[in-house]
Amino acid sequence: MKALVMTAYKNLECMDVPTPKITSPTEVLVRIKAAAICGSDVHGFDGSTLRRQPPIIMGHEASGVIEEVGSLVKNFTKGDRVTFDSTIWCGTCSFCQQGKVNLCNNRKVLGVSCDEYKQDGIFAEYALIEERILYKLPQGLDFIQAAMAEPAGVAAHAISLAPPLLGEDVAVVGAGLIGLLILKLLRPVTSGLVIALETDEARRAKALTCGADYAFDPRDTDVLEKIAELTDKAMLDKVYEAVGATSPINTAIDVVKKGGTVVLVGNVSPKVELPLQKIVTRQIRMQGSCAISGEYPAVLKLMASGKLVVDDLISKTAPLSEGQFWFDKLYNREDNLLKVVLLP
Ligand SMILES: [Zn+2]
Ligand SMILES: [Zn+2]
Repeated sequence: MKALVMTAYKNLECMDVPTPKITSPTEVLVRIKAAAICGSDVHGFDGSTLRRQPPIIMGHEASGVIEEVGSLVKNFTKGDRVTFDSTIWCGTCSFCQQGKVNLCNNRKVLGVSCDEYKQDGIFAEYALIEERILYKLPQGLDFIQAAMAEPAGVAAHAISLAPPLLGEDVAVVGAGLIGLLILKLLRPVTSGLVIALETDEARRAKALTCGADYAFDPRDTDVLEKIAELTDKAMLDKVYEAVGATSPINTAIDVVKKGGTVVLVGNVSPKVELPLQKIVTRQIRMQGSCAISGEYPAVLKLMASGKLVVDDLISKTAPLSEGQFWFDKLYNREDNLLKVVLLP
């Protein structure tokens, strides 16, 4: 099969590799139809995260058709249109048994090679997937849209950890792909204010089309004043931080109200500086959010029914053979690309 292999950092080659063979009776072979490039793939591409050690076939956001099923696969057959969790969870550890599959003790992520394991991903014509992490695509959802189920699930999980009550005012810091998906999902949840905080002008404009009532540049000196004015000096009940660096996290802490919650879903920088006094004395709850835990069925349903539109977040679809070109563009932050979907 053809696969996009990262043979060295920042070097992708579209090459022939052996098609994977079913070895576990509970796995299926999926013919990948759409494979989206995640920010974490782009950050891993230069070696800085140590989570994409070459050689590796990256990628974990995909959809496809089942080509072959293992002998013990019960609920799926050849020809089923599917997507799947980015987390390969074990199903037997104490976290999995409580349904917290994103926290699985034996968690592996598709398309990741780190010091602990190597798991090839989906930038290829075929991938082996365990039945327990598969989801059938509802009617009305095409493969390219379905490849967005994973990031939509990440956004939905972040909201699920601190969902706004009716009428609560909220903000999203960072209007990249995950931030925009959070905005889209938040809009029907609260009748309160939805504010986007984003340094890039084009992304602020985009945020306004994704459900934000206001989009501010956090570098503006009067941004706190503006939000104070809009909220009668109360500030915001919940803030979702979708970048993961010192400056945007500080913005999130500045705009959240006393006793409010900041959900941390971005993690670009492994370490950040936190204003401890502000957090403690204003009694701010800092809530980490990791991956997806049970949100797939809901986001697939929302997407298939047109209640969550993702088409406007897909900047480009391109053949797998153009992988290097599009990774370079994303890496160099050219053209303000949101999501690029490769078609193996
Ligand atoms: Zn992802
Ligand atoms: Zn587990």
